[in-house]
Amino acid sequence: MNTESDANNGGAENLDPIAISETQFDRAAAQVKGLKRGLVDFLKKPKRVNIVNFPVEMDDDSVQSFQGFRVVHNRVFGPGKGGIRYHPEVTMAEVVSLAKLMTWKCALVNVPFGGAKGGLVCDVKNLSERELRRITRRFTSELFDELGPHQDIPAPDLYTGEQTMAWIFDTFDKLHPGFNNRPVVTGKPIEMGGAYGRREATANGCLFATERFLSKGLLHGHNEVAGARVAIQGFGDVGGIAAHAFHRRGARIVAVSDSKGGIYAEDGLDPALVEEFKAGSGSVVGLADTMTITNDELLELDCDILLPAALGNQIHAGNADAIRARLVVEGANNPTTPAADRILQQRGIQILPDILVNAGGVTVSYYEWVQNQINEQWDYETTTEKMRVKINAATDAVIDRWQRFAVGEENSADDKPDLRTVALVIAIERVAHATLMRGIWP
Ligand code: NAD
Repeated sequence: MNTESDANNGGAENLDPIAISETQFDRAAAQVKGLKRGLVDFLKKPKRVNIVNFPVEMDDDSVQSFQGFRVVHNRVFGPGKGGIRYHPEVTMAEVVSLAKLMTWKCALVNVPFGGAKGGLVCDVKNLSERELRRITRRFTSELFDELGPHQDIPAPDLYTGEQTMAWIFDTFDKLHPGFNNRPVVTGKPIEMGGAYGRREATANGCLFATERFLSKGLLHGHNEVAGARVAIQGFGDVGGIAAHAFHRRGARIVAVSDSKGGIYAEDGLDPALVEEFKAGSGSVVGLADTMTITNDELLELDCDILLPAALGNQIHAGNADAIRARLVVEGANNPTTPAADRILQQRGIQILPDILVNAGGVTVSYYEWVQNQINEQWDYETTTEKMRVKINAATDAVIDRWQRFAVGEENSADDKPDLRTVALVIAIERVAHATLMRGIWP
């Protein structure tokens, strides 16, 4: 079944993550000249897939069985790299599609890693810290000969963070004594070799890519973030920190949300107050002087910039016609479906795609990995500035190529790929070229 034809036929949209990633890939591959058929097949498939099932003793003495996934999509540029998400609905298909996304992301920002991803089916909100520690240690031990500083390097993702990474490192280190194992995982706590600026990196990258885009005059009336009305879905490591970053640059944060709902304030929210309130109550919902809205309403707000920073498939065939933002900045992975991509493109709403916008995280993860090998720790400014340079270069590359496509320099003038397709074209070309340069073994 094909996502594109489903939407065009008015049928229910196919939200299977693999179908979505293949549609995105096919749109881009069609623009890459001379891509060999067999190479297309190779690049579409994951290199290595692991499914593990294991038991864990719970606090009440019961035993529960857990399922986890780790997928390496490609290692042409270096070891596999990608986050591990803990979520009750995470599936193998989702992890495969996210591992592919990591390959393109690393290639786009020129970070010498391949793409990988992990997932564990669990609901963090119903687990104690001790249970999470036991689950994480056992999951890591199940994968112990798959992970490694030059093999496959996990990082945080949905509902995992510094503490999870510290447990993964500790478990791996126990199983591989006598080596410098710090680079086996990134997103670690600072005192364990984490990078200054890693926690803020993805959100800062969202800001830098947006600023670069705006500076080129591509959003009429907004050459900078200051004064823009911004709505953010998700208030975690990406959305919450992005709210601070955009607010510091003078944006008006008109709405934010989390899994329990959203809040709106026409005059703008103070992210520090939202954070303090959420820390006390568990949600952004209920903050004084704000209007409670649903996550669906947040997505459809009249604003300049919509920053989805929570889950996938939030902007889809069913609501793309109702989106009123003028620019979508994809902090989350895969927040927009291929059918919605087409609808927004027809409506003249630009999307800055995930593989560009949220690549600040993996870029600073790369710097953490580098620092761990030489036992150094750079300061926040050094790391963040190095990341900004990479994000700006990638943003320029995407926009320059997109403008060439738009005037028909590389294609027929009526076939104008969107920014996502162009970003993927650049990434696929780089990976395909490197594969052929290395030579297909044996
Ligand atoms: P997080 O767990 O820190 O925060 C997730 C946020 O989303 C929370 O505020 C949560 O309440 C909210 N949320 C959950 N379900 C929701 C729902 N149904 N509706 C609205 N909000 C909901 O996760 P994160 O690290 O901020 O990651 C968010 C997204 O960004 C994910 O798609 C992730 O893959 C992507 N991403 C994260 C990083 C990173 O460095 N953390 C890097 C690249 C991409």
